[in-house]
Amino acid sequence: MGFDGLMVSVSGVRGRVGEALTPEVIATYAAAFGAWASRNGNRRVVVGRDSRVSGPMFTRIVHGALESVGCTVIDIGMAPTPTIQLAVEHHHAAGGLGITASHNPIEWNALKFIGASGLFLSAAEGAEMRALLETGIPRATWDELGHIERDDDAVARHLEQLLALPWLDVDAIRAARFRVALDCCHGAGSVIMPQLLTELGCEVYAINMEADGKFHRPPEPVAENLGELAALVKATQAHIGFATDPDVDRLALVLDDGVAPGEDYTLAFAARTVLKHRPGPVVTNLSTSKVVSDVAAEFGVPFQFAKVGEVNVAIAMRDAGATIGGEGNGGVILPEMHLGRDAPVGAALMLQLMVEEGRPLSELVSSKPRYVIVKDKLDRPDAPLDAVYEALRAAFPDAVADTQDGLRLDWSDRWVHLRPSGTEPIVRVIAEAPSDADARLLIAQAREPLAALV
Ligand code: MG
Repeated sequence: MGFDGLMVSVSGVRGRVGEALTPEVIATYAAAFGAWASRNGNRRVVVGRDSRVSGPMFTRIVHGALESVGCTVIDIGMAPTPTIQLAVEHHHAAGGLGITASHNPIEWNALKFIGASGLFLSAAEGAEMRALLETGIPRATWDELGHIERDDDAVARHLEQLLALPWLDVDAIRAARFRVALDCCHGAGSVIMPQLLTELGCEVYAINMEADGKFHRPPEPVAENLGELAALVKATQAHIGFATDPDVDRLALVLDDGVAPGEDYTLAFAARTVLKHRPGPVVTNLSTSKVVSDVAAEFGVPFQFAKVGEVNVAIAMRDAGATIGGEGNGGVILPEMHLGRDAPVGAALMLQLMVEEGRPLSELVSSKPRYVIVKDKLDRPDAPLDAVYEALRAAFPDAVADTQDGLRLDWSDRWVHLRPSGTEPIVRVIAEAPSDADARLLIAQAREPLAALV
């Protein structure tokens, strides 16, 4: 069964509302997911949504679709994605559905599929679930239909679990009375971030808190979208500024100097905080800045790359027994909480670090090596990329090569990563080096064998 313009990935399906993403698509995928998740007899499925305008409409459709395959729906209402993941664990549910397009623009929405472990579906699980679209979705008879239950405490439990982390010094953070600027971009962050910061004794200056999905700027929390937050940090002389994406799994920072240092610093700071208390392996995806591996090196702990994609990082972290990990895009994963990116966890770790450092984080940044990341993309050639990878490895025999997801070449202070996009017919090329010129040179060198193929 095909739907034009729909982006289907391992652990989700997304599209523009009213175009590819219709009620029919949502109903079909939600029913397939419910049938797949309840294949072993456990019929409980947690449902939550972010703040998008189409969220309530799609929630009603998801409810009916899940009932039609005999699921007991536990609806937690508007909630961050990590809260949905935690609720799946709490209820020992068969899975969870998040109705959220994460950081995608305002006209998008999506379904995210969460398995019984609270992790997003793996490639194998996603394929199994989607196979039902071909073979037919087994529906419940009239006397086996599911029903809807409500759970209004999921966010409160998330906060409680976070504040109980043994090495989070809640009293010391409260005593510090941090001034914190906050931008939730009209997303689901509004239901958890102010509560968290108030619990931690912060003086909160918040903007864009109406959780109505009417994003007035691109909702991805990259530095170029954080101008308002930077101005707020300056105007209030805040110690730090936090921005969350609409489903609250990514956290970006504006530091005390009013500068957004780049999303990779969220994970670098989180690692610094956690490794002091719990030394252990660090795992990130292959497109993450060296500022994270530098912290692992500083603490003398193992560092490991995983393929791009949250579930790949989560599985690698589980296998490695990682202490901390995540993605350079502001996605902090703390296994002590759960194996999912969690912006509230990230924010608590930043405040703990500020207490422990006893100096502004801008000073911490300027005391360490800085890098520049340059991102580029070009059309994917028809030919396989193996020849490109071979040519680059031959051209740079001194680099350490990682081939688990495209090709990443690493040197002591720079790297370049080529990777075919999973959702678009392009090749992404990302490079990082001490200077912009050096990073651009790496990009140009990596493009050479690619251009020869196009
Ligand atoms: Mg997100």
